[in-house]
Amino acid sequence: MFARTIRRAASSRVAATTFPTPAAMTMPRCSSSSIPRPTTTTTTSPTIRTMASSSARSPKLSSRETIPSTRIRILRSVDSVRAWRKPHQVDQRIVGLVPTMGALHEGHLSLIRAAARESHEVVVSIYVNPAQFGVHEDLDSYPKTWQTDCAALAQLDRELADDGSNLGRLSAVFAPTTNDMYPSGFPGQAVDSKGSFVNITPVGEVLEGASRPTFFRGVATVCMKLFNVVQPDRVYFGQKDVQQTVVIRRMVRDFLMPIEVQIGATTREADGLALSSRNVYLGERRRRVATVLNRALKAAEGRYSKGSGALDRDSILGAALKVTTGTLAGQMALAPEERVTYEVDYISLSDPETMEEIEEVDPKKGGILSGAVKMLPVEAPRPGEDLGHSGGPAVRLIDNIILNPSST
Ligand code: AMP
Repeated sequence: MFARTIRRAASSRVAATTFPTPAAMTMPRCSSSSIPRPTTTTTTSPTIRTMASSSARSPKLSSRETIPSTRIRILRSVDSVRAWRKPHQVDQRIVGLVPTMGALHEGHLSLIRAAARESHEVVVSIYVNPAQFGVHEDLDSYPKTWQTDCAALAQLDRELADDGSNLGRLSAVFAPTTNDMYPSGFPGQAVDSKGSFVNITPVGEVLEGASRPTFFRGVATVCMKLFNVVQPDRVYFGQKDVQQTVVIRRMVRDFLMPIEVQIGATTREADGLALSSRNVYLGERRRRVATVLNRALKAAEGRYSKGSGALDRDSILGAALKVTTGTLAGQMALAPEERVTYEVDYISLSDPETMEEIEEVDPKKGGILSGAVKMLPVEAPRPGEDLGHSGGPAVRLIDNIILNPSST
C-alpha cells in the first residue's frame, strides 16, 4: 500500500543563498548594446506621435518607456500601472494579466497568446518574487534575462499584430521593484516572518507546500498584489504549475475577486520535458534523464486509461514508481562520470479541487497526477562538461498530468 504520497526526504540541499537587500533587487534596464533603450518611442503610429509631442511639453510624459521598436509600455511602478489602467476601465476594455518571473520561454508566450485572443489589453508582469523562495532556495541564481525577454516580447508583438484572430495586443510589461511591491518593507523569506501575507490553506500546505512551506504564501501574496495593481478582468496561469492554479482559483473565489482565471496547457520539449525557466540549470547530462518524471506520470496515466482502466491508487502510482526506480537503477549501473542521480520528492494522485491524496479516482471527477523530482548535481564532472547555469546545482523539476473524468 502506498503512503498518502510517495515521498522521500531530500538528503542533500542546495547551498544556502544569501538574500540581497530589497534595494538591490531592482529590475535591470533594457539598455544593452543589442537592444538600445530609447527614452521616448521611435515608432510613427498616431498614438505614439501624440505621446512624443506631448513629451516635449511635459517632462512627466517623457518617462514613457517602451520596448524598443514596439508600442509595449514598460511600467516600473505601481503608480504608472494605475495611470495606464484608468482609461481602460472607463472604456470597458478587457485587460488580461500574465504573471511571470521572466526568463521567458514558449510556455509563457503561449499564455500571452491566449490572453491576446480574448483581451483587448494584455499586461505581462516580470517580477522575481523573493517571498516565494525559501531561505535555502535559488533566488540569487534564478535566471534573469531582461534583454532577451524584451526581444521575445517584441517578436511576439509582431506575430500578434499579423494574426487577425486576436482581440487585442500585448500592451505593457509591469516590472516592479521589491520596494514597490512591499511598501512596508520586505517581510523576509523565513517561515516565521511577520508581515502581510495571503495564506490559502489547506491546499497550499500539501505537496509543493509541504516541500516548500513558504512557497504558496509567497505566490498568493504576490498575485494578490499584482491583481490589485493591474485590476485584470482575466488572469492566465499555466497547467505546468497545477497546484498554483488550484491555489489561485481558491484565492479569487474566497476573496470575491471579480477575475476570471484561465489555465493554459503545459508546453513541452519534443521528448516530453515540460519547459521551465529552471531547465537551464540542468546541463547536458542531466537534461537527457530529466524526462523521467514525465515518463513516470505518463505510465501512471496509461494505467488509468488502459483497457478497463485502473482506478485505485496502488495500481496507478505503481506504474509511475516502476519508471522512477527502473531509470535510477539503470543510471546507477553507469560509471560516476556518466550517470545521473535524482531523488523523488513525491508522486501524487490527488483530488482535482482540493489536491488531497485520494485512494481511488472517482471517474466522474478525474484526478491529478503530479510529481517532483530533485536532479542531484552530477558526480565526477568531465573536463569541459556543460554542467548548466550556475555550475549545475540540484534542480527540482515538477510536472503533472490531469486524469480527465470519463465521459460515461
Ligand atoms: P514562472 O515564470 O515560472 O513563474 O511562470 C509564469 C507562468 O507561466 C505560470 O503561470 C506558469 O505556470 C506558466 N508556465 C511555466 N512553464 C510553463 C509551461 N511549460 N507551459 C505552460 N505554462 C507554463
